[in-house]
Amino acid sequence: MNTVPFRFARADYPLARHTRYRIGGPARLALFPPTRADMEAAHHWLLDTQTPFIVLGGGTNLLIDDRGYPGCALFTTGLRGVTEAARDHFAVGAGVALADLVRQVMLPNNYRGVGALTGIPGTVGGALFMNAGTANGSICGLAERVDLLRADGLVSQPLSPEMYSYRGQAFCGDNCVITGATFAFSRSDRDETEVYRHYMRRRSETQPEGWCCGSVFKNPPGDHAGRLIEAAGLRGVRHNGAVISDKHANFIMNEDNARFDDVLYLIALAKDTVRERFGVELREEVRIIRAAG
Ligand SMILES: Cc1cc2nc3c(=O)[nH]c(=O)nc-3n(C[C@H](O)[C@H](O)[C@H](O)COP(=O)(O)OP(=O)(O)OC[C@H]3O[C@@H](n4cnc5c(N)ncnc54)[C@H](O)[C@@H]3O)c2cc1C
Repeated sequence: MNTVPFRFARADYPLARHTRYRIGGPARLALFPPTRADMEAAHHWLLDTQTPFIVLGGGTNLLIDDRGYPGCALFTTGLRGVTEAARDHFAVGAGVALADLVRQVMLPNNYRGVGALTGIPGTVGGALFMNAGTANGSICGLAERVDLLRADGLVSQPLSPEMYSYRGQAFCGDNCVITGATFAFSRSDRDETEVYRHYMRRRSETQPEGWCCGSVFKNPPGDHAGRLIEAAGLRGVRHNGAVISDKHANFIMNEDNARFDDVLYLIALAKDTVRERFGVELREEVRIIRAAG
């Protein structure tokens, strides 16, 4: 790898503790740009040197190979800051925790949309990339524009509904970094703090605690991946340290020092069994980063 011209670079940097799965070997290089300008310089350098990279937000939807990643892990931790740009409009850095956006901006102002975002871990940038949400809506529907670092530089992209879909979007492709977004909120006519409490309670009743990525699979149209996996008889099935949760079958937990391959084994088992039993093809929501390819 080329000589790295940044003081915020680390070589052979272990990734496991930066993922909610607590799985993942070292990246050959990790960059922690402390400011937006540093992020721009880092991104420019990565493209210029053709260094492959992955962006890491909160690592809550990532399953990384324990053999490591042969490129660069680009961390968004430095992209902080929440600014009120205009009435009910907030410019938010991609590295801000989504929970902080909910608790420090949305709840105090009783903004609509709390039900869509309550209890989702990770960062605002990761949530926008994934179009994270719940049955009550998703984050891209609340954003007016996103700031993107692309090959042609920094772009402020207005968002419209055709640019995003269920757990996906078309505005940030390969080699793109979301540096922030402007949210346009509106006041709710119900008590959003009650909504927040309700959905936090629901999560603790229905979801297991521990090392995981939340839902492993997207819900197929008109059904729930968890229901299908449970109906296929796979609840509680283990492979070494990994287990399909008893509490929520769309959660595969790292219960006891699971390896990357242990989780992949259960992912493949769930997909194969659900396909054979019900003819439904489950698609991963979790982003899988392999050591090769
Ligand atoms: C207990 C639990 C519950 C969950 N519940 C939900 C839920 O209800 N709904 C839901 O949608 N998700 C849920 N998730 C999944 C996850 O929290 C979301 O997808 C979250 O938005 C990911 O954010 P992150 O910052 O952790 O992203 P990461 O895991 O760091 O990254 C996810 C993907 O986004 C990319 N990425 C991250 N930041 C950027 C950026 N700034 N620019 C470009 N690309 C970027 C990464 O490269 C990767 O491909 C849950 C996860 C857990 C562990």
